[in-house]
Amino acid sequence: MNLAAYRADAEQFVSSLDREYYLHFAGLQDEFDIESIYERHADLFSRDNVQRLREEGTSQLLEFAVQGLMGRATKAEAAELARREAALEIEVDGETMPYRQAAVVQVNEPDPERRLAIERARLAAGERELDPLLREVLERTHSLTAELGWPNMRAMCEELSGIDLGALERQTSAFLDSTEDAYEPIVSGPLERELGFGFERLRRSDFSYFFRAASLDAAFTDARLLGSLSQTLDGLALDPPGVKLDVEQRPKKTPRAFCSPVRVPDEVYLVIARRGGRDDFETLFHEAGHAQHFAHMPASLPMEHRYLGDNSITESFAFLFQHLTQSPAWLRARLDVTEPEPIEAQARAAKLVFLRRYAAKLAYELELHSAPPALDPLREVYAQRLGDALHVEWSPQSWLSDVDPFFYAAAYIRAWALETHVRRLLVERFGELWFEEPEAGEFLKTLWAQGQSMRGDELLAELTGEELDFGALLDDLALTA
Ligand SMILES: [Zn+2]
Repeated sequence: MNLAAYRADAEQFVSSLDREYYLHFAGLQDEFDIESIYERHADLFSRDNVQRLREEGTSQLLEFAVQGLMGRATKAEAAELARREAALEIEVDGETMPYRQAAVVQVNEPDPERRLAIERARLAAGERELDPLLREVLERTHSLTAELGWPNMRAMCEELSGIDLGALERQTSAFLDSTEDAYEPIVSGPLERELGFGFERLRRSDFSYFFRAASLDAAFTDARLLGSLSQTLDGLALDPPGVKLDVEQRPKKTPRAFCSPVRVPDEVYLVIARRGGRDDFETLFHEAGHAQHFAHMPASLPMEHRYLGDNSITESFAFLFQHLTQSPAWLRARLDVTEPEPIEAQARAAKLVFLRRYAAKLAYELELHSAPPALDPLREVYAQRLGDALHVEWSPQSWLSDVDPFFYAAAYIRAWALETHVRRLLVERFGELWFEEPEAGEFLKTLWAQGQSMRGDELLAELTGEELDFGALLDDLALTA
């Protein structure tokens, strides 16, 4: 097979998809026409090509082709899901609101009873209107997995990514065990400060309000958002020409910052959006981490090392920059925060909730994608696992919507682990104020120059000789016995 031609076509496809995403979500164009992009490049995802790539032994391109084959086979359902979701409305206490807006309203709703009412209406509407399509997509991808010759989705993803998901799950379930006793004591204080109550009254519908932590907004003013980022990048002497900042406010711009690597490394959009408060900083720095990563990759790397591969790499650099906005040294230096302790404590509590949630999610998704004899019992498995991990009653209604495609949850989990190692190295070599050292920027550039040619565990092995283990998070949260 002509691999050079395949790569060129694949790059055009990914680039078109990212451009469409950028134009739509930046509010520059109403249409979001993914279906015709798939059709223009249909040949990339033919079964013949999947077979040929399998024979060539090119793992990243094969993973791309298989995921694309499945994406193409379910694109009508995906488009219909987006249409339904955009049109869906829910009713809360006689008031109507758009489904997509409801989560944003809930995040900012100080009354716990109203948060509960919004969440109930949201989950019920999702289950009624979207679940039938989500289930179709799930069943279709499961049967395609079998048609392509894999015993189940889990085995397929493990083989294509080279990541041992079973071993990862053993690490995350060990993490759940060893943080079980510390969980409530660590989370209770910040929870009570933010909500006015602790675990005795905590419900699932309170978590997003807790993460939002509006009480900590004072230091995070809109006026300092962009300045604190450009100061940080100046400190590291990072100024790649490929990052295109989109700061203009538009009526249809999505209210969340995002990064769209349209052409790597020459055209990487960092789209800024503002909702106000600390959240804006976390999101902007996360997406800026992605943008720096992509914009520093050499154009000479093959496309699969610039656009594809193990996303725990790009997510780890996103987490690295995001983490700055919670770290005392940065808060003092860049935002003149004199008492960063409450911010640090809240971030530590929120992170423990996230890590335990993702540990439970991974265990559930592994069961869901291991060819269970029937799907329906998984609904209760989901509620049980999430409820046990977070110590609240967890509604089973999101058992289909709370599933990331192709175990993306594992990329986040590995990225959290990788980020703790990279951050520790930076602090060891350049001090707590590493973000003010051009040499720290140089060091990051050497990592970014490799793109995603290696897996996260391979990058770490090369860097420090250590094994990528989720247990690193115990140290990071100061929870080692
Ligand atoms: Zn990310």
